[in-house]
Amino acid sequence: MTCADCRACRAAMSAHLDGELAPGPEAAPEHSAHLARCVDCADWLAGARRLRELTLTARGPSPQETQRLIAAVLEAVSGQVRVGNDGRSVGHERS
Ligand SMILES: [Zn+2]
Repeated sequence: MTCADCRACRAAMSAHLDGELAPGPEAAPEHSAHLARCVDCADWLAGARRLRELTLTARGPSPQETQRLIAAVLEAVSGQVRVGNDGRSVGHERS
């Protein structure tokens, strides 16, 4: 359970991390004071920073892996879904 101060602090920290509020959490003294005394929000911020770091550095599949996945999906849906000329599904095949 979080209090209103925690919710406000986390919303501001999230906005800072997303670049919606520049330059960073340290620029909001009222939230920095809350972070200094609230272990839950400090842990939340550490986790949010770690998640952001992982998200920014995560590697996607290689072009070869992407092609393999597309082929596997097309094979899986082959005969089950009709695809129109624009690539959109236009309905299921009836068997
Ligand atoms: Zn808090």
